[in-house]
Amino acid sequence: MPEVRKNPVIAAVFSFLVWGLGEMYAAVTNLKIAVGMVLFVGWMVYLFIAPFFIKNILFVVAILLVVGVPLAFDAFRDAKAYNMQIKLKEIERKRVGNICPACGAKLEGNPRFCPQCGKKLVW
Ligand SMILES: [Zn+2]
Repeated sequence: MPEVRKNPVIAAVFSFLVWGLGEMYAAVTNLKIAVGMVLFVGWMVYLFIAPFFIKNILFVVAILLVVGVPLAFDAFRDAKAYNMQIKLKEIERKRVGNICPACGAKLEGNPRFCPQCGKKLVW
């Protein structure tokens, strides 16, 4: 199964609109997925409590957007990094002629795990 690349623009739009959503979508590392979840919870909490403290709804929206911009850039970079990981993996696989890096077994197609030793080949 060929690996699906992440669209950096979609990741950016996600995190701009919903904090952390782009990070979860890009899923570049487990840490960033966790960061995305924390941001998402923060976003929900903010939406819930902000109207109690900030009477002007435009100000509530302005803060949402101001925080969303750097998160959009962050998610954009995450998606790029995720795609780069796939690309490096593909280059490496071509270089070694599609053999398992752990046991040297010849691999048919593009398996996620080595059928011989079970090593994870795709991540
Ligand atoms: Zn192997």
